[in-house]
Amino acid sequence: MKGKVYLIGAGPGDYKLLTLKALEVIRQSDVIVYDRLANKKILKEAKKSCEFIYVGKKSSDHTMKQKDINQLLCNKAKEGKIVARLKGGDPYVFGRGGEEGEILYDNNVDFEVIPGITSAIGGLCYGGIPITHRDFASSFHVITGHLKDDKKELNWKALASLDGTLVFLMGMKNLKNITENLIKNGKTKDTEVAIINWATRYNQKVLTGNLENIYDKVQEEGIKPPSLIVIGGVVSLRDKLSFFDKKPLLGKNIVVTRARAQSSSLVKKIMDLGGNPIEFPTIRIKEINPNKDLEDKINNIGNYDYVIFTSINGVDIFFNRLLNMGYDSRKLGNIKVVAIGPKTSKALKKYGIIPDIIPEKYVAENIYESLSKNLNSNNKVLIPRSSNARSYLVDKLNEVCYVDEVKTYDTVLGDGNKEEMYSFLQNNEIDYITFTSSSTVKNFISIIGEENVDKLKSTKLISIGPITSETIENFGLKVYREAEEYTIEGVLKTIINCKL
Ligand code: SAH
Repeated sequence: MKGKVYLIGAGPGDYKLLTLKALEVIRQSDVIVYDRLANKKILKEAKKSCEFIYVGKKSSDHTMKQKDINQLLCNKAKEGKIVARLKGGDPYVFGRGGEEGEILYDNNVDFEVIPGITSAIGGLCYGGIPITHRDFASSFHVITGHLKDDKKELNWKALASLDGTLVFLMGMKNLKNITENLIKNGKTKDTEVAIINWATRYNQKVLTGNLENIYDKVQEEGIKPPSLIVIGGVVSLRDKLSFFDKKPLLGKNIVVTRARAQSSSLVKKIMDLGGNPIEFPTIRIKEINPNKDLEDKINNIGNYDYVIFTSINGVDIFFNRLLNMGYDSRKLGNIKVVAIGPKTSKALKKYGIIPDIIPEKYVAENIYESLSKNLNSNNKVLIPRSSNARSYLVDKLNEVCYVDEVKTYDTVLGDGNKEEMYSFLQNNEIDYITFTSSSTVKNFISIIGEENVDKLKSTKLISIGPITSETIENFGLKVYREAEEYTIEGVLKTIINCKL
């Protein structure tokens, strides 16, 4: 098989600004070579066996020399591999994509280039600044603030005479020089300037001023690279057009403790609201397999009057087994189906089942209340669920009818990265930790170590409901807020309200 290199523009930061074509290639790649400006969340799209190579690149400290990067790309492709060279923004906008392409050509390596959204345009957009506007700028000019040969000066006279929007990349070290030269060569001191730091990311910061005062403002605020310097009248449109700054969770680091397989909806919602989800899976769902008990219960399901599902996992494992045994949902016949809440109910719909009962509040206590009035001592209830579930529901129902509990899965410790979490907590970098069940609390503490519980005291702990809150409090910790509705949406609403 012949290897190939794809020079890919990863976009300015928000990982959803990746093109479909780039995503397709990333999913097929054997090797991904990436640098600092490409969002690492993209790497999660790669296949399991993919090799990741970080080649750094802060403005001054190159982790790997360009020459070595070139060599690496050629070598990997010659081994027959599909290599994705991920670059921030667009590969041909100050990204050395051209140079890498030339080397690949010289070495007879097959390559393709996938353009990306450049920070020079997309970054401005997220900063609320349109790069052109009929009232302000009919051209734009993208300029490097960092020349290959330091002694060579830009043509300031020509730049100062332009009416279009000026965008400087890699210009922060040279900001004083840039503003002074533009003023000296004829731009008025009050020409508007914006600095956009980490554009399109959850930690985006925008600072505005004019050619005369922006340098001092940057020093005061301590704004560093990577930043865009935008000069021109279009900056004033920010007041009306800055949609991204209004995202409710912008700048917030939020830990998601659910099992990896279930965290995606919460992770996605946090990102859509502008926050930074930090996945720290505390749980892994392990189906009990083989499970003769479950098969017996399914074979004899007609003996039961009710079946109660208390989680999405419980639903999926039950119905997958039922289907594998050669049955379909009709096997349930007229049995009444109970779902603990809307998510479990949605999971049931996939199998063509609409639950007969969903309690008002999504906890076991409420299932009992809703059901007990309908039950009599002749009734039989089946509860397929986790081996770690609380005994409450089974105990209470046993007082009024016959109950069979069948254990279908174990929840075991997840693979959350202890060192990474410890360092986040130590540096006070976490805004909220979301706990969506008692097990997420217990396992979180088991992973970071009970001796480190105190580290959680300076972080806001959000609980999905009263049972989870109780578990948090039993560890001597305080619940910052408890969700009013005991669902993932409820947890999100709670965080948004904290901010308001
Ligand atoms: N190829 C990239 C640019 C690489 S040069 C692109 O098309 O966007 C690196 C410079 O780009 C940085 O010094 C900074 O000025 C700018 N830059 C890239 N991404 C940025 C971001 N998310 N926020 C602010 N500036 C960014």
